[in-house]
Amino acid sequence: MARTPIIAGNWKMHMTVPEAVELVKGFMPSCSNKDGVEVVVAPPFTAILPLAVLMDGTGIKLAGQNMHHEPKGAFTGEVSAAMLKDAGCAYVIIGHSERRQYFGETDGSVNLKVKAAFANGLMPIMCVGETLDEREKGDAFKVIERQLSGGLSGISAAQMGSVVIAYEPVWAIGTGKTATPAQAQEVHAFIRGWLTTAYGGGVSSEVRIQYGGSVKPDNVSELMGMEDIDGALVGGASLKADSFSALVNFK
Ligand code: PEP
Repeated sequence: MARTPIIAGNWKMHMTVPEAVELVKGFMPSCSNKDGVEVVVAPPFTAILPLAVLMDGTGIKLAGQNMHHEPKGAFTGEVSAAMLKDAGCAYVIIGHSERRQYFGETDGSVNLKVKAAFANGLMPIMCVGETLDEREKGDAFKVIERQLSGGLSGISAAQMGSVVIAYEPVWAIGTGKTATPAQAQEVHAFIRGWLTTAYGGGVSSEVRIQYGGSVKPDNVSELMGMEDIDGALVGGASLKADSFSALVNFK
C-alpha cells in the first residue's frame, strides 16, 4: 500500500516566538496543503500555540518534542500529552536520542509516553537508533530490536498503524554524516521485518518509517527513493525556510 511520506522538522531548543513566526511565514507558502506529503513541525513548547494559530488552515501539523507520561501532578517543568493536544499538536516525538542521552530516557519511559500519547489522541513519532560504538560492535540490529520491543510493548495492531518510527543513527545526528541510502534502507527493512513479525504484514506495510540524521536538500531525494524510507525527521536543515521547503518539496 502507498504510504504518505512525512517530513518533520525538529527545532530542538531553537526559536523564540518571533523567530518561530518568521520561519513559518517563510516556508508556509510553499509547504501548505501539500498533496502526497505530510508536513510536521516540532517547535519548542512556548511556540506551539502561536504557531497553531498562524498555521490554521495550512495543513501543516504540529508536534511536541517530548512530554511527561503522567496526566498531571507535581512534576515541575514537565508538560502532559493533554496539554500538547490542547495547544494544537497532532504528534509528539518520543525517545529522541538526545532525550535518551542527556535526560536518562529508557525504553521503559518511552513506552509509558507512547501509551500516554495514544490515551490523549496524539500520534507518537518514536525514535530508535544505534550509537557509533554499537554499530562498530555489530550490535545495531540488536539495539534497535530492543528499542522497538521495549518502546512498543502493549501497543495494539490497531494503534500501531498510527505510530511513526524515526530511525536516527545517533552518529548521523547533527554531525553532517548521513547514513548512505543503502545503510538506511538496510535498517528500515529490518524495522519493517520486525513489525511484520510482531503485527503482521498488513500493519507493517502501513507504518511510516522516517530516516533522520543530517538530512539536507541535496541528499533527501536519494534517501526518499529507498523502498522502506517514508519520510525524514530533520533537525538543522529545518531551521531555515528555504531548506525546509526544499525538503518538503523533494519530489
Ligand atoms: C534530529 O534532531 O532528529 C536530527 C536528525 O538532526 P539533524 O538533522 O540536525 O542531524
